[in-house]
Amino acid sequence: MVTILLQAGCRDAPVEKPADPPSHPPTHPATLIPVPDRAPLIRVRLHRLDRPNAMVLIGGDGQHLDVGGETMPGPVAVRRRHGRWVIDGRHLPADVSKSKALDVRSGSPLTVSGEANRTYPGTIRCVADREGDAFDVLNVLPMEAYIPGVLAGELFEGWHDAAFEAQAIAARSYAVSECHERQNRTWDVTDTPASQHYIGVPTWSQAVTTAKATEGQLLVWNGSVVPGYFSSCCGGRAATASDAVGPNPVNAVPPLDGHSDPPHCSNAPRYTWEATWDATRVAEALRAHGSRIGDHDLAGIKRVTSIRSMKPNRHGRPTLLQIQDGSRTVTMRCVDFPGSVASSGIEPVASGWIDAVERDGELHVRGHGFGHGVGLCQYGAEELASSSSTPHDILQFYYPGAEIRKAW
Ligand SMILES: [Zn+2]
Repeated sequence: MVTILLQAGCRDAPVEKPADPPSHPPTHPATLIPVPDRAPLIRVRLHRLDRPNAMVLIGGDGQHLDVGGETMPGPVAVRRRHGRWVIDGRHLPADVSKSKALDVRSGSPLTVSGEANRTYPGTIRCVADREGDAFDVLNVLPMEAYIPGVLAGELFEGWHDAAFEAQAIAARSYAVSECHERQNRTWDVTDTPASQHYIGVPTWSQAVTTAKATEGQLLVWNGSVVPGYFSSCCGGRAATASDAVGPNPVNAVPPLDGHSDPPHCSNAPRYTWEATWDATRVAEALRAHGSRIGDHDLAGIKRVTSIRSMKPNRHGRPTLLQIQDGSRTVTMRCVDFPGSVASSGIEPVASGWIDAVERDGELHVRGHGFGHGVGLCQYGAEELASSSSTPHDILQFYYPGAEIRKAW
């Protein structure tokens, strides 16, 4: 189980408010993410190659490939050199080598170096930066071919079908919203939990059959697609998207405002958890993070004597951490904490909902949940599914007021 620590996309920028009334009425949230009438293609970034002479190997031995319209046997080793595509040992026509994007296709799923044992449906697309020889390697494929690879990346084989189907609808809704928000960029999502975990063609059938059972279904509120944020375990108290993802109007809708009912994930392995961290390393990481983001209070932290979670939202989930540095206190958002100490050498932090005290140079930590806690809670969804809840029941619980609409 890998989960989303922060699905921020590009919508965590603060909303600017003009000083004067706008000459046109502001865009109503209902029109922010229109419901598409056909399945979009999605562009999933698999790799970024930014070292000189970096190479990606695409396709299997002897596999028939279409490389920018040229037929070649696989595999092909693709590089950038002096602003052109180069394929080791093969000739590319000038117009193909000078293009910004190079598409590789085949009649069967493709392998990509660096992803052992995975195969990808659709097209493998290499997209060059505007300047220099760095490039991204994408998998471009129909939305319905993408969803099974997300289910296989996010859930355990053998969990109840209703949990899979609820997850499929949430994941599709998130993906559609990213496609809309990033239509002027070169890719829509990554294949990591920073977006949602995607593994290409699944090797087990439940991921395929449950995706198929929900084909085209999206979470919709007031005519707009709801980005179906989800996490592994909410720790029993939901976060709101406005707090944990960003104060964008897309996130300020009732279905993303969290649920207040009792938790269903209390049997999850990370419902509560404990850890012991080196207090010096945590202080160093927080100082470095403070310097990076220009937070002088955080950049000036000398030691960490305690951490206290505070300012709960209306569901009881804390939103701020108060970090005690001797007699001084510094506050930061819970959601920012895991990323801020990622370089500290301590284990990856499951959630920013923590309390800690220092003893003999060690921070004794008690934490809650795994992930940001917005929207669907995967362990809670499985618990609900095991007690006969339908996918619709599960989604109504985690995205209150959302409608499930079949868009294609
Ligand atoms: Zn939960």
